[in-house]
Amino acid sequence: MERTIDRGTVVIGIDECKGCGLCVQACPPRVLRLSAQLNRHGYHPAEYTGSGCTACGICYYVCPEPGGVTVFRREAA
Ligand code: SF4
Ligand code: SF4
Repeated sequence: MERTIDRGTVVIGIDECKGCGLCVQACPPRVLRLSAQLNRHGYHPAEYTGSGCTACGICYYVCPEPGGVTVFRREAA
C-alpha cells in the first residue's frame, strides 16, 4: 500500500503560545488543536495532531505571538 507523505509539519513554541486558538480555527485541514496540558504561563497551547499538514503557512500568519508557530515544508523528492 502506498503511504502518503505529508507536505509539511508544524512546531508550536509551547511557552510562546497564549492558547488563543486562532491557528486551530484557521488551519484548513484542521490538524491543530489546543492541548489539554498547560504551559508554564497557564495557557493551553496549540499542538499538532501529527499528520496532514500541507505546509500552507496560514497558522504562521495568523499567530500573533512571535515564535508561536514554525512551519516546515518538505522538499519535493
Ligand atoms: S501549515 Fe497549514 S496545514 Fe499545516 S498546521 Fe499550519 S495551517 Fe494547518
Ligand atoms: S495562534 Fe499562536 S498563540 Fe494562538 S493558539 Fe495558535 S500558536 Fe498559540
